[in-house]
Parts: sequence; structure tokens; C-alpha cells
Amino acid sequence: MSNSLIATFGASSAKSTDLSALDLGERGAALCAMADLHLAVPPGFVLSTKAYCAIAAGEAAEIANLKTEITKGLATIERETGCALGDRKNLLLLAVRPSLPAALPGTLEALLNLGLNDETVEGLGASAGDLAFAHECYRRFIQNYAHVVMGDDPAAFEDLLSLFIEERGYVSSREIKSSDGPELTQRFKAQIQSSNDRIFPQSVHEQLWNAIAGLVRAWQGPRAKAQRKLHGLKDDTGFAIIVQAMVFGNQNEGSGTGHAASRHPQTGESALHGEYLEDAQGPDLDARLRQSTLLSGAGVSLEATLPDAHATLVTALNKLEHERRDAVEVDFTIAQGSLWLLDLRPARRTTAANLKILTDLVAQKRITEEQALLRIDPLQLDQLLHSTLDPAAKREVVAQGLGASPGAASGMIIFDADEARTLAGQGHHVILVRTETAPEDIKGLHLADGVLTTRGGMTSHAAVIARGMGKPCVSGASSLKIDTAEGVLKAPGMTLHKGDIITIDGSSGQVLKGQVAVIKPSLSGDFATVLGWADKSRRMKVRANAETLHDAKLARDFGAEGIGLSRTEHMFFEGDRIIAMREMILADSEKERRAALAKILPMLREDFVGLFSIMAARPVTIRLLDPPLHEFLPSQNDEIEALAKNLGANPSNFKKRLAELREQNPMLGHRGVRLLLSYPEITDMQARAIFEAAALVQAQSGKAPIAEIMVPLVAARAELSAVRARIDAVAKDVARETGQKIEYMVGTMIELPRAALKAADIAEVAEFFSFGTNDLTQTTYGISRDDSARFIGEYTNRQIFPRDPFVSLDVDGVGELITMAVERGRQGRPDIQLGICGEHGGDPDSIAFFEQAGLDYISCSPFRVPIARLAAAQAFLKFSNKS
Ligand code: PEP
Ligand code: MG
Repeated sequence: MSNSLIATFGASSAKSTDLSALDLGERGAALCAMADLHLAVPPGFVLSTKAYCAIAAGEAAEIANLKTEITKGLATIERETGCALGDRKNLLLLAVRPSLPAALPGTLEALLNLGLNDETVEGLGASAGDLAFAHECYRRFIQNYAHVVMGDDPAAFEDLLSLFIEERGYVSSREIKSSDGPELTQRFKAQIQSSNDRIFPQSVHEQLWNAIAGLVRAWQGPRAKAQRKLHGLKDDTGFAIIVQAMVFGNQNEGSGTGHAASRHPQTGESALHGEYLEDAQGPDLDARLRQSTLLSGAGVSLEATLPDAHATLVTALNKLEHERRDAVEVDFTIAQGSLWLLDLRPARRTTAANLKILTDLVAQKRITEEQALLRIDPLQLDQLLHSTLDPAAKREVVAQGLGASPGAASGMIIFDADEARTLAGQGHHVILVRTETAPEDIKGLHLADGVLTTRGGMTSHAAVIARGMGKPCVSGASSLKIDTAEGVLKAPGMTLHKGDIITIDGSSGQVLKGQVAVIKPSLSGDFATVLGWADKSRRMKVRANAETLHDAKLARDFGAEGIGLSRTEHMFFEGDRIIAMREMILADSEKERRAALAKILPMLREDFVGLFSIMAARPVTIRLLDPPLHEFLPSQNDEIEALAKNLGANPSNFKKRLAELREQNPMLGHRGVRLLLSYPEITDMQARAIFEAAALVQAQSGKAPIAEIMVPLVAARAELSAVRARIDAVAKDVARETGQKIEYMVGTMIELPRAALKAADIAEVAEFFSFGTNDLTQTTYGISRDDSARFIGEYTNRQIFPRDPFVSLDVDGVGELITMAVERGRQGRPDIQLGICGEHGGDPDSIAFFEQAGLDYISCSPFRVPIARLAAAQAFLKFSNKS
């Protein structure tokens, strides 16, 4: 931090200051920067955060220094403007504004028209040729001063004004005459005196110092404190104060105020964008009292009315964008035809606009590709991965709900999940419409184009599942009523029937009648360019977690470089497989189990052929069966009896078997490698399906698939080596039978603390490790990943945990286990391949940790792949200090 207390800016100061943006606050730094570029900024000075600290601490010597500096600063303003504070002939009025360390809207108020008193008000009236206007400015200033400096409620002044208007028999404040001015001002001053027992100062210098001190006090008040907390700023954070000459946008027709950006906020196209309000000051624009006009164009616009000011604005914005190396937005005032810039900030933009701006800046060589990458929030890319409604299409809104999962889709209204599934299977487009969804609706959800619920919030079942599947969801559209008996969906003033077409927009939450044109996400253009840069700038590979062909294709489209986790248990649920699987589980002998598994084998082989073909010679990690067997069996009594009957089994034997399978704590029970060791025929069957599929694809395509067979829940080397021996034996058999060389690796998940501890040992029999951070988090904390939602919210609210460790990796604890396992794993096998496939693989903060931990790849759900590609690049750039 510099020692200077103030920084002066204006046309006459060559380079305004050595103070940093931190010392000057956002607005103060912006004004100094614009003045340095010789852009027209009303002259002024900034009291730095150091000045704030001195006033706040009451340091007498420093305050005396500061007052001398203020006098000098004021002299500079007076020299530049040719006016003087308190001089009624050449009147200088000041604006005193807070300059905060970050955007904290509504925290502190500015003081405008400082310098008005009973005498100078006459001077302003004379120079403006409008005494009523001068009195109005004075009144506004008194009210503003009372609020900022004395903490008075502005409502008391508004009441006074209303009373006066009533007394005079006026209809509105517009009828107030200049002759009313002194009387009204008197009442305003008396109001201050009665509520504070203090007199409104006629000394303009006293006004200035009191304004500064008032802002300092307000920054220490409860409202500002709460805002600091809300925005994560430390309570002792300081701020700066700007004292600047007033310019008037409300003096005549050649005046006004507005804001302008160098780019279109939606598209990022280079074009002046913003609005202008003639004969107005900043607050009038914010209050939207009148209709503003466009900046450019032949119609009613700034360009048409004040072409010179418009041209100056265009030049200024181009210059600022060039210098700032970013799209910018300014606040401006035009005073009698002259343009003044009052604030500067990065332009607002959508993600698509941001990518356009960044690709332009890179093309213009204003920034490097690496710098551009670091300016994108990876999570924001999600906006671009989904279909959107065509903005040009006509819309008839039926209801408004919550935009719970992004994307837009049209389809028939269907109220029943099974029916939705059947119709979607026949090729119809379907929107599943439910009051709420339940787990048994998942199959319908899987095939529907989107889901609409009339109840539930952003974390309702439908919302969570739809987001996971990347499908649009509107939830909580409460104005809609479903009548399933009648087969109708009632909206205010409209009744829709089952089978009618609707469109949902999961981003805005709108439900629309009929088919509305939808634009498919464009993963080309700027998006592809930016991700291409990311791919060049990252070290870690990015794979996807996928088991269905649909997800695998999606993953490839999003740029996945392989599959990092294929959870094979999902393959056992479809169609006839579940029947054979249940036969296997309920069989009494190994022979019967093998017979049941033999029925499943060809189906699994077909699945693997699909995955290997889509991934074309890229690695595919297939995890052997993981969950406990009871997950494949029904739990309700009537379902159990029906199943027993179906399988020709005795219901009581059947129930006995079910009771045997029941566990107190199945997630820590007979699952993963433990199950594979108890039922080696499952390992054999899965390994055979994988190798036969690999041999088939190799024979057909000539490209050798890379199968990485992964064993779950390993805690000890002996577990892995026993399973590995069987896999190797099957590989030999299949190679002999097919005459093909089978390329494969065998590895394990590291998802138990013991596995992390014994990583060196385990690595001797594992060619790769993949960190299963979901289970590793669960077992490290001893917190059930399925039930944690009950209290994790409270934990994070109370800052007991900084974040939900199932969402963002606990770098301190679970991270330490990972770091240790990486090190020990490499001791056991120096070239061991290391990856991660838990949910954390799609979380940018966790990805930054995986980069530092030196993992070879991350694997995440398909929709997270682009996010992970970018986050991996950012992590590499930051960690290797290349930015
Ligand atoms: C894990 O535990 O992190 C993992 C990827 O496996 P699953 O989520 O299937 O238990
Ligand atoms: Mg797991």
C-alpha cells in the first residue's frame, strides 16, 4: 500500500497516481485510469483507503495532513474548472462518492451538489437560468446530507414536501415555483435541527469534511458491515472516497445521462450498447421515471440528437476496450453537449458473449490464449451445453415455474412414467408432467425429453435427477393443476389435454403452449476454439463416466478422451437381464449360478462392443460388479411373492434367501471385491464378456480397444491379486479361443483409507489406480453419502465444514490420503496410471487439487467434460505459473 493519502485526477495531472487499485477502490481506480488516457473525466481526487484508516482511527496528525491534501486537491479542481467552492458567481459543486473494494450495491450513498447553501443557490439559479431548478438541487442536497451525515430518514423530508404541495393546493412537485424555494428549504433545515439538534452547515468546507466523515461512519454501521460479510470481505476492509466536480445532465436539452458498453451483452458483438436519458442525472435513469432512448440508430437516439457526443463516446469505448484488454461499460453524463465519463467497469455479458469477446481479443493479440482461458468460469460453460429456445420464435406462456435443469424441449404431455417410457420408446417426443416425481419415475425420466412438475424446488427429486441426466426440467409450476383422472392439465384460463404438445424452458422456468423452435447447442465456433486452447494448455487427460451408448456418444461429442468409469451394475437392470441376474442370486449352486450368468454374458458383450466401438481405441475403464446383491432384488412383499412365482421358487425359501442377504450396513458389507471373491463366476463372466467384445471389435475395426478392468472396494493386496489371477486366466482363454492378442490392464479403485495406506503394496499388482472419491470421502469421514444431506447443510451454514465434502474435495483430509497414495503407489510401481472417477472429477476446485497431486486423468459425467477440460487447463496454468 502506498503512503499517499489522496490521488488527484483530471485533465491537468499527467499520470495521476502511484496508488494501486486496492488503495483507490473500484471507481476511484477507474476514474484515475480514464483520466490517464486523456478521456474527459470531471476533475477530482480520491481519498485513499489509508485516509479512511486515519479518519476511522482518529489519528490527529494524519487527519491534519489529510486536510492539507484535501485543500490542495480542491485547488486543483478549482483551477481546472475555473470555478470555486462557495463562489456564487463561478460556482463549483462537488459530488462525494464512496469507492468500494468490490461491487456492493446499495451499501453507501453518494452526496451530490455539495457546496450549495442559502447564497450559492442563487448563483446556481443565475448560471442555470432557472431558480426553481437551483432550489430543487439544494433541497435534494439537504435531504441527502441529512441521510448520509446524520442518518436521518429521507421519508421525513418527503412527507414535508407532500405537506407543502397540499398546503399550496398543487397537484405535483412540478408546480413548485422558485418563490417557494426559500420557504421549503427553511422547513428542510428546521427538520434537521429538530431531529438532531444540529444546524445544517452554511460553510461549504464544513459540508465537505462532514460528508467525508459521514461516509466513514456509515461504512462502520450495521448495513455496511452486513454487506461486507455477505460478500466475504473482512470486517476491517477499508474503502476510498471520491471528491469530484459535479457535471449536470439535467440543465437543458443538450444534456443527459446514460450508460454504454463496448459490446452487446448477449452476443459479445462489437457494438455500442446501452441507454440514454435526456435532461436527467444518474439516479433518474436508475429510477426509470421516463423512457430512455437508444444510443445509436437513425430513430430517436443519442446518435441522432447529439452526434458529436455520440462519436466521442464511441471513440472513448474503443480506446478503453483496447487499453483494458476487455469489453467495458461506462456511466456518462452529457453537460451542454460535452461528454463526461463517470465510471468504468467490465461489461456485463453472457457466457456466449464472453467467449466471443475473448476470441476477438486473442485474434487482435491483445491477450494470450492462456490469459483468455483464465477469464472463464468453467461452471458457466454449462449454459452453452443445452438447447435453448429460439429468441425469434413466438411464445405463448402457459405457466412460470423454476428453471431447475437447463435446456429446452417440446413434447406430448404425459402424466404417467410408464406411458412416457413406452411412447418415447416408439419415437415420440414426451414431456413427463407430474405433481412431484418419485424414484420409480426414473425409467420414464430417462426416455422423456423433459420433465415438468407442479410442486418442488431446485433440489426436488425431479430437478436433481434431470440435472444429472442433462435433461430440461421446470419444477414448481404451481399455477398448473394436474387432473390425471380427466387427463388434463389446467392452467389459468386454459386447459391442456394429455397428448397436447408443450415446450419447457429449463433455464427460464417457462412452460409454453405448442411446439416452440429450439436451437441445438452449438459446440462449434468460439466454444470449440476456447476448448481447443484448453486442450493445448492442460496436462491431465479428461475422461467420462458412462455406461450407456447414449452417454458414451455424448461424452465423445463433448471431447472425452476415454471412459474413466463404466459402472457395470447398471447393465444388469435392463429387460431380461434382471431376470437372469435374480436367478443367479437365488441359485443354490455354482453350476446354477454359472448357467444364469451365461444368459447375461452375450448381452453384456454387446454393451462392451458398443462402448469399445464408440471410444475407438481410446481407453475404456470397466468396473466389475460393485453393489451388494440385495440391490437387484425387490423389497416389497407383493413384488417378492410375484417374483418367486415367476421363477417357480418356493416363497418361503425365497424369503429365507432374502433374509440371508440382508445386512445392517450394506455399503460396508458384502460388496465390491468381497463379492467377486465369494462368487468368482461373476468375475469370470464379466471378464469374458469384456475380452470377447474387445476381440470382436479388434477383428472388425482393426483397432485394438484398450480395456482397463477395475476392481472396486479393494482394501488389501491379496484381494486384488486373487481377482486378478482369474481375470488373467480368462484373458488367456479368450486369446487362445479367438487367436487375438488382448490388450488390457487390471487396476483398482482407491476408495478406502486402508487402500490409500497400503498403496505401495497394492500397486505391485495394480497397473492403475482410480480414486473413488465418493466412497473415499464416505469412509474417511465415516459419513454416509446417501444420508449426509440431513445435516451437511447445517454444517456448511455454520462453517463447521467449509463446503460439502461430497461436492468439493476435502483437500485437507481426503486430499492428504490421495497425495499419500499417489506417492506410495509410485513406490510400488513407478509408471502406475493414476486417475479419479468420483463426482469430484467435475468440480473445478477439486480438479485444481488433482493437478497438484499429479494425477494422469480426471473422469466425470459427460455434461461435465467441457467444464473439466477448461478447469484442468486453468489448474495447469496456475500451478505451473504459466499465466
Ligand atoms: C466412488 O466411490 O467415488 C465411485 C466412483 O464409485 P461409486 O460412486 O459407484 O461408488
Ligand atoms: Mg465407490
